[in-house]
Amino acid sequence: MKVYTIGGYEEVGRNMTAVEVDGEAVIFDMGFEMEEVINADGEVDQMTTNQTLETGAIPIDEVLYENDVEVKAIIIGHGHLDHVGAIPKLAGAYDAPIVCTPYTKKIVENNIEGDRKNIDNDVIGVEKGEDYSVSENLDLEFMHVNHSIPQATLSLLKTPEGGVVYGNDMKIDYSPVIEETTDIERLKSAGEEGVKLMIPGTTNVCDEGRCRSEKSVEQELEDVMNSCYANGGAVVMSTFSSQISRLNSIIDANNGRRRIAFVGRSLKEYTQAAEELGLIDLSEVEVVSYFDEVQDLMNRVSGNKDEWLIVATGNQGEPGAQMDKLATGQYPFDFEKGDHVIFSSRTIPTPPTEANRYNLEKKLKEKGVRVYPGVHTSGHAKKEDHRDFINHLQPDNIVPSHGTIQKLGDYVELARQEGYTLEDDVFIGENGRVIEIE
Ligand SMILES: [Zn+2]
Repeated sequence: MKVYTIGGYEEVGRNMTAVEVDGEAVIFDMGFEMEEVINADGEVDQMTTNQTLETGAIPIDEVLYENDVEVKAIIIGHGHLDHVGAIPKLAGAYDAPIVCTPYTKKIVENNIEGDRKNIDNDVIGVEKGEDYSVSENLDLEFMHVNHSIPQATLSLLKTPEGGVVYGNDMKIDYSPVIEETTDIERLKSAGEEGVKLMIPGTTNVCDEGRCRSEKSVEQELEDVMNSCYANGGAVVMSTFSSQISRLNSIIDANNGRRRIAFVGRSLKEYTQAAEELGLIDLSEVEVVSYFDEVQDLMNRVSGNKDEWLIVATGNQGEPGAQMDKLATGQYPFDFEKGDHVIFSSRTIPTPPTEANRYNLEKKLKEKGVRVYPGVHTSGHAKKEDHRDFINHLQPDNIVPSHGTIQKLGDYVELARQEGYTLEDDVFIGENGRVIEIE
């Protein structure tokens, strides 16, 4: 068995890994490196594959061509852009279908449509728990796992040499909002059947303890909203657009008290796809994205601030996103003293993003807006969640992924505590490396 560690082994982003058994391979994920995408000022959609490769925004998949790897399927674990973003740029070069869960399929299709390149790979939706035959020797099953987007999976590739579990973003939430808890029983039985290799993400492995539950965030959201409503004034909230369970929590916590509007293009795309699959009920929500629509909405909100709860895109303070437009008075709406802004999100810890977010909060506070940051929990396993995944799956070998070398090293430290040995059964990849698993 060979593992090609293509992208996401020196950064948090542009995830791509291939696993080859007996001359047949599958690719797991084809993602964006979001910071480079942002640096390219939203021009990536217009770029050719070669131009995009030069920016560092997508994985460099040369190693697969150099080794004449025969790719049978492109398997996508979930719909976040650091896992699907590079599909329009890279997938077309492989004569292989894209396989993912139904919600991820909708995101992949939206993504392909939004890019100017035309690719003709089939996109196949497979429900969790069903078997998909990749080839005579390879079968795929999506196991249910919690993350911060619906229908995230641990992909289990069943090979003649044993199982390969790719779970790049995952956690165990014992009090989730819209989906069940990670299917621990299935993880344990997969472990008993034999897992030769696990490829886990490492984003939060250096954080002690466990990840907070979504339900506990819903409770905190409700408390914050109650106090805002009691004080009166505008209440504007921002979260990640693909965080469908959080958006459900917002609707539930509001409990019919104010009219709700979702404002912004990505909110519209992700929530409409979710509604089509019954993952959110938008019947009581006004969803707007075009400038005229938002203008009209904010006109109505303006004199009746106490009647509305606005959920807008742009929690990272991105210039030009809806939060920024609201804060800089580009609509017929002005923040004033005593209005409220709730951030149900975290700021991505990179200097440009932190600067954007600082500037947004500064503008709001100058107007006397009361700001409630960090009403949030991460979708990524912390140290003790990771230990659980190792215990349940009992993998023979581990290749940690989705992180800087530092984070991969932190994971190795954890694996050593669980009895693994570096370069014997736990390996540090680098982008473009090939690891042979005996
Ligand atoms: Zn993710």
